[in-house]
Amino acid sequence: MPAAERLHSPDRKQAHEAARLAKRLRHAVGRAIADYNLVEDGDRVMVCLSGGKDSWTLLDLLLALQAKAPVKFELVAVNLDQKQPGFPEHVIPDYCRERGVPLHVIEQDTYSVVTRVVPEGKTMCSLCSRLRRGALYAFAEREGFNKIALGHHRDDILATFFLNLFHGGALKAMPPKLLSDDGKHLLIRPLAYCREAEIAEYAAQRAFPIIPCNLCGSQENLQRKQVRRMLDAWEHEHPGRSETMFRALAHVTPSHLADAELFDFASLGSHGETPRQDAHAWLADKAGARDE
Ligand code: SF4
Repeated sequence: MPAAERLHSPDRKQAHEAARLAKRLRHAVGRAIADYNLVEDGDRVMVCLSGGKDSWTLLDLLLALQAKAPVKFELVAVNLDQKQPGFPEHVIPDYCRERGVPLHVIEQDTYSVVTRVVPEGKTMCSLCSRLRRGALYAFAEREGFNKIALGHHRDDILATFFLNLFHGGALKAMPPKLLSDDGKHLLIRPLAYCREAEIAEYAAQRAFPIIPCNLCGSQENLQRKQVRRMLDAWEHEHPGRSETMFRALAHVTPSHLADAELFDFASLGSHGETPRQDAHAWLADKAGARDE
C-alpha cells in the first residue's frame, strides 16, 4: 500500500482516535488526582473491580498512571463474588492473571440475603450495594488498604446530584474524595472527570471482559433511570450541558444559596459594615472568596 494511502487508512484513523481517547482519559484521571490529592506516596489502594466497564477502565487507567507516576503506590484489584446465578467467576481472575495484576476475590453470598429480604418485584440494588460496601470496607480494613478506589464517573456524580435535589431535598452529589461515615476509609473516585460515553468507548476498544451487573435480574432504581434519561436528553439537545453542570459543582457560592450553616446570613450587615463588605469578609475568611 502506498504511504499516502496507509496514512489515511481507516485502521490508522481508528488507532489514532483510540490513542487520543486513551490520552484524554489518562489526562482526566491525572487532573482529578492532582486537584483532590487522591493518591499519595506510599498509598495502598484497593481498586473495587466489579467487572463492569467503569471498574475495568478505572483499574486500567490507574495501572497506566502507576507505571509513570513519580510517587510509589500500591494497587490491588478486589472483586466481590456475590454469588449471583450465572456469575462467570473465572473471567476476572483470568484477565488479571494475564495482565499480572494482583487480585483478591472475596466470596460472600449477598445475593441470597437480598433475594430473601427484598419483596419480589422491588429493586434490590440499594440493599445489594449496601451489603457490597460493607464487605469491601471490611476487607480493606482487615488488609490495611488506606484508600478505596471506586469507578464512579462524572455522569454518576451528576445523576446523584439530581437525585438528591429532586428526591432528597439536599444539594449534594458524590465527591471525588470522601471519608466514609465511620471515619475509617478514604474513598476516592479518580474517574470523576471522565464522561461515561468515553469510558464505554474505551472499554470497547480495550476489549475488557465485561460482566453485566444485572445478572441477578434486578432493575435499576426507577428514579435513577428517570434522572439518567433526563440528563441524556439535555445533553442531546444542548451538547456540553453536562460538563457545564459538573463545573458548577466545583464553583459553589454559599452566600448565594440559603444554608445558614454554610454562610453566616444572621450576622450579615450587623457589624456596621455594608452587607456586601460583610459577605466578602466572611468569604475571604473561609478562603473561598469568589466574585458575584
Ligand atoms: S443489578 Fe443486581 S447485582 Fe447489580 S446492584 Fe442491583 S441487585 Fe446488585
